[in-house]
Amino acid sequence: MSTRSHTFTEPAKKHLGQHFLHERGIIDKIVQAVDPKPGDRLVEIGPGQGAITFPLLDRHGELTVIEFDRDLIFPLTEAARAHGTLEVIHRDVLTVDFSALAHNTGGDGQIRLVGNLPYNLSSPILFHALEHAAAIRDMHFMLQKEVVDRMAAGPGSKVYGRLGVMLQAYCHVTPLFDVPPGAFRPPPKVDSAVVRLVPRAPDTIGITDPTMYSAVVRDAFGQRRKTLRNALSNLCDADAIAAAGVRPEARAEQIEVADFVRLANSLAAR
Ligand code: SAM
Repeated sequence: MSTRSHTFTEPAKKHLGQHFLHERGIIDKIVQAVDPKPGDRLVEIGPGQGAITFPLLDRHGELTVIEFDRDLIFPLTEAARAHGTLEVIHRDVLTVDFSALAHNTGGDGQIRLVGNLPYNLSSPILFHALEHAAAIRDMHFMLQKEVVDRMAAGPGSKVYGRLGVMLQAYCHVTPLFDVPPGAFRPPPKVDSAVVRLVPRAPDTIGITDPTMYSAVVRDAFGQRRKTLRNALSNLCDADAIAAAGVRPEARAEQIEVADFVRLANSLAAR
């Protein structure tokens, strides 16, 4: 079945990060990666002209989408009739309460998020989703490849940093496949990649004070070439770092996520 409709007449809007997917093979790979099962509550962020929306609807029968561009709402709603039951939320995704959405959708009380995200908003959307992690079963997002690389990086990698350490504490991060610019209209300037994020069970995260965790990670990578002793001097001294079993002379890029968690918990307990 066609994924596009002649009713979408508006040109892509740059300020909304609109790059519409047209490569059938990539769209199929995203749907396969999501692999919706009966009863799943799927929520797509930024459906655009429906490239992923309609194949997901064909497969699953129902879907909720969150779209900010008012010019897309009517054509999306119209075109969706041929594919299944589409609930359209016309809002800025950053103002959507995912926990309330999950609560209202029935099922097991969790939603599954999907989206070819507007790249200018990808970090705010990720952190907004993390605030509602307990309401989210998993996320499949298309992002800039460079962002996916940073999300998944570990100690020793040049791109290991604040984004990866923050995300990996709360989620399992699995890069799935890369997507070239030519798969979109208009093509973005950068390569893209699809990533799967699965929030960890709340009782396995182990962070006792999320504000302290954020502060430790922010300061540690704020000056990544400095030793922890120097980078964290506003938060603690070398003895407090050592008391958590972390070397004060190490640099942030050498420290595992689990060590950051232990350090933040130890500082929070003082
Ligand atoms: N899913 C479509 C596709 O793959 O072809 C469109 C993806 S396009 C990269 C990003 C989409 O996010 C656009 O439809 C854009 O209008 C929408 N968008 C941008 N900012 C948004 C926001 N704050 N809240 C919800 N949707 C937004």
